[in-house]
Amino acid sequence: MTMPGFHEARAPSIPKKATLAIDFLIVGAGIAGLSCAVALRRVGHRVTVVEKEPSIDGSQYHAGGSRMPPNMTKVFYHWGMGDKIMEPGVISERVVMQQYRSGTMLGSHRWDKEMLEEAGGEFVFIHHAKLRRILYETALELGATIRFRSKVVEVSEDSRSVTLSSGEELRADVVIGADGVHGPCRLAVDEEADSGRPSGLMMFNAIIPGESMRTDPDLAPLLDGEFISLWVWFGENHCALCFPIAKSDDCAFYFYAPDEGNAQDVWNDMVSAKEVSDHATVSDAERRLKKLARLARQPSRIRCTEWPDLDDWVHESGRLVVVGEAAHPFPPGSIQGSSMSLEDASTLAKLFSHLISYDQIESFLYAFQELRQGRVKKNRITDMANIYFMTMSGEESRQRDKAMLAMQSKGQNVLGGDDGNKQQWDENRDTFDYDAEDEADNWWVQWGLLRERAKASSTLANASSGVLAFPIITTESSPVP
Ligand SMILES: Cc1cc2nc3c(=O)[nH]c(=O)nc-3n(C[C@H](O)[C@H](O)[C@H](O)COP(=O)(O)OP(=O)(O)OC[C@H]3O[C@@H](n4cnc5c(N)ncnc54)[C@H](O)[C@@H]3O)c2cc1C
Repeated sequence: MTMPGFHEARAPSIPKKATLAIDFLIVGAGIAGLSCAVALRRVGHRVTVVEKEPSIDGSQYHAGGSRMPPNMTKVFYHWGMGDKIMEPGVISERVVMQQYRSGTMLGSHRWDKEMLEEAGGEFVFIHHAKLRRILYETALELGATIRFRSKVVEVSEDSRSVTLSSGEELRADVVIGADGVHGPCRLAVDEEADSGRPSGLMMFNAIIPGESMRTDPDLAPLLDGEFISLWVWFGENHCALCFPIAKSDDCAFYFYAPDEGNAQDVWNDMVSAKEVSDHATVSDAERRLKKLARLARQPSRIRCTEWPDLDDWVHESGRLVVVGEAAHPFPPGSIQGSSMSLEDASTLAKLFSHLISYDQIESFLYAFQELRQGRVKKNRITDMANIYFMTMSGEESRQRDKAMLAMQSKGQNVLGGDDGNKQQWDENRDTFDYDAEDEADNWWVQWGLLRERAKASSTLANASSGVLAFPIITTESSPVP
């Protein structure tokens, strides 16, 4: 049974086209880069994306699932992409929490319809590769140029051009570094960018084939239950999540376990299903988890790293900005990782929809940083805290399970709510209600317009005193070849 979605009712926002259209060069065609391409094309800027991989499907490693929270699906509705996302996506209706070793139910929570209505989005599960492809196709439809086999090896000192491994140089008015945590743009912005602190955990990322689950009476209910659910197992130093990512087949499987020192910060470190299964066996996982681990298809292993904040996301030249993982890496499998990339794109495009002169570029990039840094930091800390909570050890984990059971037996909402933990509920509301376009508009009304008025009055004053007034649109132009 599925909860009726209300994405049909979400009309796209009508994008305001920028008076001055400029050239953006985006490094990286991951979720962040492609989202920026879509958002900036919507407001009329020229966009070229360069990606080192050979094609959008060039990497078999975009293999896992993605959880999209309401603040992320809302962005898709604004962009008129609701139907594209909902066609392969699955609306999640509830979360079920269980004990890792015994499988005992610790609680469950159905998403509150009123809260989702207020947030203007839903929880949707989707195949990560599918999500990336949808963004890619939309960016192309909107007129972005996307070049594969184009690896950036150098960012120029003025940060307005990049050199590809072929030797070709590309120039733009603004370079957007969406090349992830290991790309060259992060270091161009901050050459001392920290390489992060290991959390002691790693995550296996895999798909569990739906047909194998359906033939097993233990596993079939995870896929075909009354509600479409996110299944979570809380353990000691371990936890697992399983959720459907396609309407009629396949579940995603995230399995957190202690890092024995061999995991890396990459998504393409492939391991065998036996390795996943051995971890489940050694940690005495409940029967269903052991079965899921054995069925893991194309599993990869990724380290959970805690990343410190970059002080600046904007290069001192004022023409290069980092977004997505290049600016703010999240732990793998986190709920808000990809959604922060979409919000970044939404904010950036909304700010640049007001562009009328080149001298606004730097202030818009710093406004972007100012608007995004606090929100991203808060969500990253919360996501990491959630992973620590799900993987507590020893007495702490027993207390956690006891508290959850106690809430459940009182009929209270384990994830918080009016009848439970009100503070957590309010935080959820804040996170999901956030609207990146509104925030950018507020900045424009409060600060951007003020600056323009100040500029206009100083121009008038200069003109009346005989000093030459500068034109609003300068002739600076640097098309991307
Ligand atoms: C291979 C892969 C698989 C993933 N699988 C999942 C998954 O299953 N589930 C999930 O929730 N999240 C997954 N993620 C993570 C997810 O994409 C990110 O957490 C988040 O959505 C934002 O990513 P991003 O676009 O900022 O960075 P990334 O996803 O890291 O994308 C960066 C892009 O930049 C490209 N790039 C890097 N360096 C250069 C260069 N020098 N020149 C040109 N291009 C360059 C990379 O090839 C990549 O396409 C995956 C990421 C990767 C890279």
